[in-house]
Amino acid sequence: MALCEGCSWSIYEFIREKCSNPDALLEVWYTHGLLHWQKDCERCGQPSRVDLRRKQLRCDKTVSTRKQKKQRCGWHVSLLNGSIFKRAHLDVNTLLVFVNYFIREYFTVRLIQHELGLELKTITDWSTFCQEVMVHWALEQQGVIGGPGRIVEIIESKFWRSKYNVGRVVDGQWGYGGICRETRNLFLVPVADRTSDALLAVIKERIAPGSIIIFDCWKIYNCLSQEEYNHLTVNQTYQFIDPDKLAELHNIERQWKEAKRKVPLCGHRKKHLVKYLARSMFLMHFEDHNIRLHHFLCAAASVYPPV
Ligand SMILES: [Zn+2]
Ligand SMILES: [Zn+2]
Repeated sequence: MALCEGCSWSIYEFIREKCSNPDALLEVWYTHGLLHWQKDCERCGQPSRVDLRRKQLRCDKTVSTRKQKKQRCGWHVSLLNGSIFKRAHLDVNTLLVFVNYFIREYFTVRLIQHELGLELKTITDWSTFCQEVMVHWALEQQGVIGGPGRIVEIIESKFWRSKYNVGRVVDGQWGYGGICRETRNLFLVPVADRTSDALLAVIKERIAPGSIIIFDCWKIYNCLSQEEYNHLTVNQTYQFIDPDKLAELHNIERQWKEAKRKVPLCGHRKKHLVKYLARSMFLMHFEDHNIRLHHFLCAAASVYPPV
C-alpha cells in the first residue's frame, strides 16, 4: 500500500465502500500516515509488514539461530502503537465516520447524537480533536492574501491550550485571523500582544496593499495612531470598513452575506472564535466537500504523527 496522494469521497460512497468492512477504515488512517507507515522489526531489524486484519505490524522474516536452525522471527506490535488513537484512547473506526460529518457544513451535535449515538462528552472531545487539526492547518497557511479591491476580514481571538498538548500556541495568547473572500486564502497568526505595532505588522505582512479590510473600526482607530491611520488610508494602501457599515456597500454586502451564510464566521462565543474561524477557513478553502477528508487526514497526520 502506498501513501494516498489524493482521494475523493462523498458520504454515501464512504459508507458504502468503507463502512461495510471495518478493516478498510483502518486502512484509511494508515494510507494517510496516521499510523506507523514503515517500521523495522525491533528484533531482527528487517522491514516489517502491515497486517490490517490483525491490526498489527508483523515480521515474517526468516532468521538463523545459533544452532543454524532457521526460524520465523514472529515479532509483532499493534498498528495503533504510538498513534494518537492509542495515546488519546480514540475509537478509530467511529472517529473516521465522525470526521466525515465534521467536515460538512451541516455538522451539528444533535445530528451526531442521532446518527452515531455518541454521548455529548465524546462529541465534545472529538470535535476538539478535529478543531485542533484545523487550527494547525490554518497556522501552516503562509503568504499574503487580498489585493486591489479584494475584501479581507480580520478577526481577533484568543488561542486556547491544546487538549492533546501539541502545537506552538500557548494558553491565552492572542492572534489574528484573516480570510480573503474572493480567493478564500487565509491566515491565522498568533501575536505576543495586541499593540498597534502587532496589528500593523500582521496587516502589512499578510494583507496585500489595495485590499478592503473589514474589521471593528474603533479598534483600528484605537490601535493605530492618527498618523499611521492617515498614512494607510489617505494613500489608499488599505480601505478599512466597519462590519456594521458593510450594508452601505451594496455590491460587496450581498456577496459577503452569501459567504457568511455558507460558513458562519460570527455569532459564536468569543473564546472559541479561533476554533470556529479555523473550521470556517478549512471549509471555505476546500469548497469541494469530497476532497476535504483527504486534506483533513493529511493535516491530522502532520499534527499527530505516530511516535
Ligand atoms: Zn487521500
Ligand atoms: Zn524480525
